[in-house]
Amino acid sequence: MKTDPTNSHQRDAWWFIIADNEIVLQPQGRFIPYGNTNDLPFSTELVKTKIKIGMFESSPCYLISLSEQVDMGLGEYTSLRSILGKVDDQLFYMAGRALQIDLFYKTHQFCGQCGSKMFRIKWEFAMQCPNDECSHRCYPRISPCMIVAIRKDKQILLALHKRHNTDNPIFTNLAGFTEAGETMEQCVEREVFEESNLKVKNIEYVASQPWPFPHSIMMGFVADYASGEIKIDPHELTSAAWYDIDNLPALPNIGTIARKLINKVVDEA
Ligand SMILES: [Zn+2]
Repeated sequence: MKTDPTNSHQRDAWWFIIADNEIVLQPQGRFIPYGNTNDLPFSTELVKTKIKIGMFESSPCYLISLSEQVDMGLGEYTSLRSILGKVDDQLFYMAGRALQIDLFYKTHQFCGQCGSKMFRIKWEFAMQCPNDECSHRCYPRISPCMIVAIRKDKQILLALHKRHNTDNPIFTNLAGFTEAGETMEQCVEREVFEESNLKVKNIEYVASQPWPFPHSIMMGFVADYASGEIKIDPHELTSAAWYDIDNLPALPNIGTIARKLINKVVDEA
């Protein structure tokens, strides 16, 4: 008997298999396992959550959250960072969505207001408190951050962040989290001043990038230097300096919003 290819129970799908905050990635190709969800190579008893989170190239995408990392011969449990820039942006973002939704369900088991056990809403990504007098509802946490490339004539400000100060240091833009009650532009001004002691002007929005490590969205800006001498915040940075655009140090990978902003400054200088 021929199966109906439009039957959602029979269709092939992308499998975003997650356990312990790591995702199963195949060693090559498109990295994300693909196949019929009836053929998942592990016991259904291990599945905590199986939920459709979207579509990619006409195929459904499933978050399959497991209670433990079981070897199923599909690939390795690893960090999504390892395929940044090596996979289609949309597939990368879907994998980030899977990780964020998985983390959301895991960290919102109980109501933050009254302590009741929460339940999952079926028609949207949300957790609901069953207590009528409380009715608290939570959505996946998304934390906005700004990242900014600062230009001055034919130079760009690049910083060595403490977390990038390794054997292979990477020099990049200033970045930081938005605070409550702040516009993105105010966030750019404040973070730049806190981290480098510089004032900037002509703040211009360029693009954004979901950054699921663990739940940010990077809002990318360029700005012009206005005034001040560089004085770094030693809690955040190891160094910061002006670099000639034709003599740049090691930069963030292609595929990151940081690199996109740096390239924009270089191209337009
Ligand atoms: Zn509650």
